[in-house]
This record gives sequence, C-alpha cells and structure tokens, in this order.
Amino acid sequence: MAEERKRLDDYCCQACGFRLQIGSRFVIEVHHKTPLSDSGVTETSIDDLISLCPTCHRIAHLRSTPYEVEEIREIHSSRADQAVETNRGEPSSFGVTDEE
Ligand SMILES: [Zn+2]
Ligand SMILES: [Zn+2]
Repeated sequence: MAEERKRLDDYCCQACGFRLQIGSRFVIEVHHKTPLSDSGVTETSIDDLISLCPTCHRIAHLRSTPYEVEEIREIHSSRADQAVETNRGEPSSFGVTDEE
C-alpha cells in the first residue's frame, strides 16, 4: 500500500514538493498521518498515508504527535524567512576609507 501511496502522490513530497529520482528509484518515504496506537485500528487506509521526503519526514517526527503537512510547510516557510534575515547584511567588499 505504501507503494500505491507514493504513486498517487507522484513520488513528490506533499509538504515541500521535493522529488528525487536516483536511477529507477525515488527518494521518498511514506508517513502515517494517524499513529496506529492512537487510532486504535490496526488497519491503515491509503488516506492515512502521505508521501514525504526524508527531510520533511524527519521534521514530522520531531514531535511526539507528528506534525501535520500544513505545519511542516509553515516550518519551511519560517525557515526561509530566517534565511532572508541573515542574508540582509550587505557584504562590505568595497571599504571606503577616508584618508587625508
Ligand atoms: Zn519535503
Ligand atoms: Zn512517519
């Protein structure tokens, strides 16, 4: 069923859209949106699964209650904001020196 989920998601990460194919294999993982222990059911439906890239999958499991795809997207966008923040300082390659 995991393979079917990946195919349905076109081997794309559903959080960031990442898609990587190496040879004939795709670098994608299948994540259970509903932890089996919580739902009380042992059978999973295809709707409980989601394709995530290794990075997003890692993020999802940083919390004991796995992050939702929406939350992972937010984490990504906030990280992007931070990256912009740190790049804000202009490189001072031209040091203007006033020497008199
Ligand atoms: Zn991803
Ligand atoms: Zn998972």
